Amino acid sequence: MPVPTLILVTHPVVGTTDGRTDDDHSAGSQPGFVLADASLPQLSVLDLGVTRGDGVFETVMVSEGRAPAIDAHLGRFASSAALLDLPRPDLDVWRRAVLAAIDAHPPAPVLAVKLVLTRGIESGAPGAGVPTAWVAAQPARDFTPQRENGIRVVTLDRGYRHDVAATSPWLLQGAKTLSYAINAAALREAARRGADDVIFTSSDGFVLEAPTASVLLREGNRFSTPAPELGILPGTTQRRVFEFLKVYGYETDAVRLRASELGRADALWLLSSVRQAVAVVELDGSAVGFDRELTAQLNEHLAASGR
Ligand code: PLP
Repeated sequence: MPVPTLILVTHPVVGTTDGRTDDDHSAGSQPGFVLADASLPQLSVLDLGVTRGDGVFETVMVSEGRAPAIDAHLGRFASSAALLDLPRPDLDVWRRAVLAAIDAHPPAPVLAVKLVLTRGIESGAPGAGVPTAWVAAQPARDFTPQRENGIRVVTLDRGYRHDVAATSPWLLQGAKTLSYAINAAALREAARRGADDVIFTSSDGFVLEAPTASVLLREGNRFSTPAPELGILPGTTQRRVFEFLKVYGYETDAVRLRASELGRADALWLLSSVRQAVAVVELDGSAVGFDRELTAQLNEHLAASGR
């Protein structure tokens, strides 16, 4: 894998300075961020993003140099930071840093551009209290086989009730935090069960989301997705898919859906920025309808539109 294009965001949050000097804004850099070498050490072993997973991130899909959902990602980045009581990201700086990373990267059909903001160095150590922030761009994995053939999915209990975001906001459900070890563990469990991915359910039986994707369900001409108040991440791809479906006259809705109702779907998809729309062709060992044509149309739309 090639070395990512790395940009260190030196002024990532509104209204604070980060202790860096004006030299950081010299030739070859833009105010607020600076190009760096990802093959060199850049991160402290005392960074809370590393030692506690205490931070937030986004992954933006860039197709042929365009980032169609950048605004939605920046908005969600700010919401995640707010849920973690992190300082407010300066979205203008982040937007320019993302565009600079795209420009600095050699041309590639699809890039995954990651934005990371951590709480910074552990308290008591020199440099504590200053967020750490960077943008890294690298070519995306090729998900064509999954898009064309679909995936096998198992449902797994996440262990939280559907109302956990309201009752226990400190669990940070609905924030895109750096603590993805649980999501990775769930994917390993899926592999042990002979599947490719997971749909999480709440402990009281509602459909939630996948470890790195939103769920989309089709029943006739009606498309639905689990509602964001169920303690799930509001998907930028799901939002774009709904916009597309509405143009074609389909009904769309955010709902509370019982896991037992998944079986009556005419088709099911997992939606996410880089992998885009992949059809679920098998759920807990039972076949699910595969709408090949609509899957292809969704992916064409997701890759093509935007700035
Ligand atoms: N849900 C979770 C838990 C995710 O991690 C992701 C993306 O990584 C999504 C949903 C889908 O979000 P998006 O479509 O913005 O990529």
